Amino acid sequence: MQTRIEVGILGATGMVGQHFIKFLQGNPWFDLKWLGASDRSAGKKYKDAMTWHLAGGTPGTVANQTVEECRPGNAPKLLFSAMDAGVATEIERAFAAAGHVVVSNSRNHRMELDVPLLVPEINADHLKLVPAQKARGWKGQIVTNPNCSTIGLVMALGPLKQFGITKIIVTTMQAISGAGYPGVPSMDIMGNVVPFIGGEEEKMEMETQKILGDFAGDHIEPLAAKVSAHCNRVAVVDGHTETVSVEFSSKPSQTDIRNALESFRGEPQNRSLPSAPCCPVIYMEEANRPQPRKDAERERGMAAFVGRLRPCPVLDYKFVVLSHNTIRGAAGAAVLNAELMHSEGMLSA
Ligand code: NAP
Repeated sequence: MQTRIEVGILGATGMVGQHFIKFLQGNPWFDLKWLGASDRSAGKKYKDAMTWHLAGGTPGTVANQTVEECRPGNAPKLLFSAMDAGVATEIERAFAAAGHVVVSNSRNHRMELDVPLLVPEINADHLKLVPAQKARGWKGQIVTNPNCSTIGLVMALGPLKQFGITKIIVTTMQAISGAGYPGVPSMDIMGNVVPFIGGEEEKMEMETQKILGDFAGDHIEPLAAKVSAHCNRVAVVDGHTETVSVEFSSKPSQTDIRNALESFRGEPQNRSLPSAPCCPVIYMEEANRPQPRKDAERERGMAAFVGRLRPCPVLDYKFVVLSHNTIRGAAGAAVLNAELMHSEGMLSA
């Protein structure tokens, strides 16, 4: 039987930290052994250090575990990071310098030139950036996953890159869970739409170009497409819905696009990684799908659901995509990244 790998969570008491705990339950490769948070929580039992916000109550496997300070010392080599962005830069770097593999969900290192912004189905080869991190004097490494609004867009566009993407216009309808807990005040979001999420449009535009870019020896050559994002918060609990219009240089037919979406498989599927969805993109025939309440949780929240593919009178084609923002857009994305890294032999001593 394969030896299980001990893992820890930096920021285990927060909203995303809780999603990590839940998502890691039953993982056949990773064994959650260590929980880290701020000095406000360190020294307490996990159940006394936080309020559990997810369905099902605090898992018994972690309830009585003592929370540790986020300092290198006794943590396992592989750490998932869900820390507040205000502190993640220095703490993640300290762990990487000390030899840890930090698989981060925070935004802090995503756009660093030597850090992969990884979506295993789309750009597994961007892991080739990692050796360049040695120049920082680190014995370990940092790998990141995208923002929760970027992930659905790039999973739908990855299979279409072959047609030469030149322009992308995306409008999001983002769930309130993406704002963490307690998130947006109920008086602001009930029966309302908030047409601004600070920094989100810039993140979507830059991250999309990096993820769909090409590894070019020692850096990523960003996708040379214009990207315009409009980001909105709506009164949905989980699942970001996005409407997308795309222009292509090779003018594919609608059948070409549909076939590319439906036949798409990536390294996680080829390697049967434990957290991989059976198909990264699931096309839905019904005229009124995908919908967050009905579809976001399917495939354990790890697939992107696409529908309503049709010609666009302004660009070439338009469609809708839905992905689960706290699973494929956060904890599940990082766990799949670590599984890909393990399958590449990057987690061995
Ligand atoms: P959160 O609920 O506020 O949790 C923040 C976590 O960081 C807590 O565990 C907190 O520990 C810890 N922390 C704060 N200061 C610390 C310090 N000085 N040292 C060590 N740990 C410290 O935030 P969240 O919503 O889970 O988000 C976590 C990260 O994921 C953020 O960077 C966010 O941008 C990103 N993200 C969030 C979502 C989402 O859907 N919410 C999606 C994608 C990405 P204490 O409990 O001890 O304070």
